[in-house]
Amino acid sequence: MAHSDNVPVHPPRDAVVAVTSRCNAHCVMCSVWKHPQSDALQPEHMRKLPPSLASVNLSGGEPFLRDDLEQFVRQVRQRCRRARITISTNGYLADRIADRVESMLEIDPALRLAVSLDGLGAVHDAVRGDAGAYERVIRLLDLLQGRGFRGLRLSMTLGHVNARQLPAVAELARTRGLELGVVAAHRCRTHMRSDQQPDPSADQHVREDFQQVLAQWLRSWRPRQWLRAHFAAGTYRYMARQSQSLHCGAGGNFFFLQADGTVYSCGSDGRAMGNLIEQEWDGLWNSPAARQARALSHACGRNCWMVCTVRSWYRRNLWSVVGWALGSKLLAHLRLFRLGGPAKAQAGHAPGQTQDEQASIEAPVRADPSH
Ligand code: SF4
Ligand code: SF4
Repeated sequence: MAHSDNVPVHPPRDAVVAVTSRCNAHCVMCSVWKHPQSDALQPEHMRKLPPSLASVNLSGGEPFLRDDLEQFVRQVRQRCRRARITISTNGYLADRIADRVESMLEIDPALRLAVSLDGLGAVHDAVRGDAGAYERVIRLLDLLQGRGFRGLRLSMTLGHVNARQLPAVAELARTRGLELGVVAAHRCRTHMRSDQQPDPSADQHVREDFQQVLAQWLRSWRPRQWLRAHFAAGTYRYMARQSQSLHCGAGGNFFFLQADGTVYSCGSDGRAMGNLIEQEWDGLWNSPAARQARALSHACGRNCWMVCTVRSWYRRNLWSVVGWALGSKLLAHLRLFRLGGPAKAQAGHAPGQTQDEQASIEAPVRADPSH
């Protein structure tokens, strides 16, 4: 394990901020909605964020349950002037979200919204645990696209309930002209408060689904699609239990701020570094607890592949990503693009996970979602 004093300290670039732990969904891979809720974090606490941040993801729970979400956007915009702000939502409150996004664009014209879509129709409802969830997302997309909102993205989390849905969701994204981010379900103790170990395994069918979708993205002439393809290839490798070259920068380049004010090194299996409500940033980031958390992340072997922590890896390895994209693009045009099969040695459990930790996911669907 790395000694806490040996891990360099530098200003972080990426943060996920849970503005609330309340949620109106009941997702199978998440336990946020089962736990006591906190709205302790207030907009004025955003004034303590480090100005070095280049990206801030306002998340939850469901962030649009907060009546003062606009104030969070305003405070982050003023404090972190270079940061790209993205709000993640489950899309349940479609009309309310569409109206509020319109007013938030006056605060930040570059605001982005990532709407979670984990399958079509009943599959999405099964992942969310709520009947009608899919129709709400479609309504939100219709409203926002009808108003010409350009900051819209789709975000898909793959687990065993929706493992074969990637081509269908990718096609929906294509027909609507939207980008799609694809991540595998991770164990998320810190953010989703879940000890449940998802089993996002990749069989031969899943591999073919990824190959088909990634080849299509690589054949496009939009470089952002190539980047999406590279990230999705990493998602596939995570699902296939293949090793990644990623050296996790959680607690260094990245941190996760929970709705009770606790700063964690990451949202997956992060250690507490301090509390932003009680402390000032510099004292928190340089505290013994923060150094210890950073050292544990540095030595962590879980090989997570999540947007929040991988983003800094992309900054450091841009040319290797460009090389992969150009080579893979050529193969895609020649119809020769292939992904490797699942790693046999670790088959049956996810990276960094023992077989005893693996648990199946039940998928109950509620008839009447609460709001
Ligand atoms: S994954 Fe997100 S939308 Fe689903 S219950 Fe958890 S916080 Fe809510
Ligand atoms: S690899 Fe370890 S430190 Fe990094 S995000 Fe995953 S659990 Fe956190």
